[in-house]
Amino acid sequence: MSDFLFFVGNRDKFALGLFKQFRIEETPSRVLIITPTLYYKKWVLEYIKSRLSDYGKEILVKAQEEREERKTEEFKDGLLAKYTFENFIVGPSNELAYRLCMEVSSNPGLYNPLFIYGSVGLGKSHLIHALGNRAKATGYRVVYSSANHFSEEMVKSLREGKIEAFRSKYSAVDILLLDDVQFLSGKERTQLELFRIFEDLQAKEKQIVLVSDRHPKDIQDVHERLVSRFASGIVIEIGLDMETKLLIVKHKLESFGLPADEEHISHVMENTGYSVREIEGFIKTLRLTGIRKGERTEQKTERLLMYVARNFNLKVEDLKKDTKERRVINARYIAIYFCKVLLGMSYSEIARLFGKPDHTHALYAVRKVEEKKSKDKKFFMMLEAMQSSLKKILQ
Ligand code: ADP
Ligand code: MG
Repeated sequence: MSDFLFFVGNRDKFALGLFKQFRIEETPSRVLIITPTLYYKKWVLEYIKSRLSDYGKEILVKAQEEREERKTEEFKDGLLAKYTFENFIVGPSNELAYRLCMEVSSNPGLYNPLFIYGSVGLGKSHLIHALGNRAKATGYRVVYSSANHFSEEMVKSLREGKIEAFRSKYSAVDILLLDDVQFLSGKERTQLELFRIFEDLQAKEKQIVLVSDRHPKDIQDVHERLVSRFASGIVIEIGLDMETKLLIVKHKLESFGLPADEEHISHVMENTGYSVREIEGFIKTLRLTGIRKGERTEQKTERLLMYVARNFNLKVEDLKKDTKERRVINARYIAIYFCKVLLGMSYSEIARLFGKPDHTHALYAVRKVEEKKSKDKKFFMMLEAMQSSLKKILQ
């Protein structure tokens, strides 16, 4: 167990009876306990604290600290002060978006509208907050809103008879930043209001910046006239390639106080996908748990077994089963041999992996393979070929 997350039960779900008291979801690295009320959450927390080792306690306290941090984030004019150009790492896949945002921040109206899209966690929100912060610091009037917030605010204004105030709030700016515009989908009235504001701002040559998780043309249920406005300026995609990911991983390791050495870098590179949010989350956990060598080897053994099994037209389970079938035994011996020479596992570890009572089986297998390798040229060649593919797979 490395991480605990506590959720206060959503009242609706509770009322619907989806869960009565607690729900527990477990994965190898995390236990999620969902409690129905705050009272139960506190109770569980105390209970677990009193039973866990210091190691576990530390994780708990940290998890709470992080939530506290989030609550006290600065939030002025809709802009988050923590997102700046200075702490945005630039690489080939986000450089253009970064440069355009920089230019717009000191020269609003330059590329109008600027539309940035890309999948989640790639720094789109970070960039437009940075743009807003920079522009605000030089005296421009900026307003940031997400499409959802914009919509809620509009509905509320309408209900309270303050729609004019709403319109002028968004029209009296030099830069309008609208995040997650894919959420405009199906919201007729919001789209209408936005269209008006859009026309007004464009007529006054004010800057509009839009962010979405997809290209304007792929946003469902948004009026064609709005879509064509969105796409009428510059449309740019933001991504995350290997090179940029590497730069970000190095930087994030350092900023979270971890060494940016070979071991840490490759551990993070191997275990995360292409999302900066995921990378950050992974490093935060890593800070608490450290690199678990066992886990790494586990993943590698999985890959190794899969490769060997496939090579002999077998399943991974076949390699471990009790059988007299020569073909299967040979494949198992080879798998054992590679576990030894490529992963440096001990004979007892190998025996455990293959469900054998003691290390002699593994020892025997490795000897057999070595023997055959020295006598049989064809076998030798096959083993060499397998070894070089495996080295790549296990990198
Ligand atoms: P998106 O809006 O694209 O879903 P965010 O802007 O919310 O993504 O970014 C997710 C997290 O990753 C944020 O904490 C952000 O600071 C961080 N992040 C994303 N890209 C970068 C980058 N290039 N350099 C530094 N931090 C980044
Ligand atoms: Mg975002």
